[in-house]
Amino acid sequence: MTTRYTGMAYEQLFLPRLTGPEIGKLAGTGAMVVLPIAAMEQHGPHLPVFTDNLIGEGMLTEAFRHLTPEDNIWLLPHVPYGKSNEHADWSGTVTLSAQTLLSVIMDIANSLARNGFKRLVLFNTHGGNTDLLNIAARDIREKTGMYVFRIDGGGLDDEKDLLTQEERMYGIHAGDSETSMIMALHRDWVHDNKLPNEFPPITPDMKIQFSNKRFAWLMKDLSSSGACGNAQLATEEKGKAILASAGRNAAELFKIMAEFTFDQKNVPIGFL
Ligand SMILES: [Zn+2]
Repeated sequence: MTTRYTGMAYEQLFLPRLTGPEIGKLAGTGAMVVLPIAAMEQHGPHLPVFTDNLIGEGMLTEAFRHLTPEDNIWLLPHVPYGKSNEHADWSGTVTLSAQTLLSVIMDIANSLARNGFKRLVLFNTHGGNTDLLNIAARDIREKTGMYVFRIDGGGLDDEKDLLTQEERMYGIHAGDSETSMIMALHRDWVHDNKLPNEFPPITPDMKIQFSNKRFAWLMKDLSSSGACGNAQLATEEKGKAILASAGRNAAELFKIMAEFTFDQKNVPIGFL
């Protein structure tokens, strides 16, 4: 799969390909913009630290294949760094503080609002960003009046049967799913002789889990390899299927978000 600067996402619907005056006109037509946010952080001994960026690009390349210029949905350049302090002890991680990332997102959103845009999607592919992006989304809504939406790439696909139950529950980082996607995107960026198989010391019977009754963790609390999941199960085919499915679902959500208003009933969008 070729991703960077190819396909509908980058050849036709990449906002910075346009001139300033073109963007000025476009903003007044109800255009929606999609801001991808990722991270540069360690992904075990086998994956590049650019993994979350590559996955975001891959999913959005797939998503935009299902869109046309008439949909009026435009892609912005990635914010390549995220809040990754859970990985800060590991080499290769470059993290922004919560305050810095919040400021960056708010500055981008304020600029987009001044340009006249009224709809913004935050498309995130790093779990460590999610809490902060919920805060950012609400603050943008309050300060600019824009419609703001959030999508997380993790779990966006319908290919749940491709992963084991254990992987779905605890394969949160650099495991089967992420390794498969990088194999599909850049086969030779994966170190096949270093694939980890390590799960965190959490079992389904424990009262405290990753969601709801939760604990704060750093990756060193959970893993010695820097990965959580079984990367040895990864395949390129699985990665292609996950990316294609996530892309289809993202495109469908984008179209709904482009039309969404608060007076609509029964729209399939939940609370942040
Ligand atoms: Zn990742």
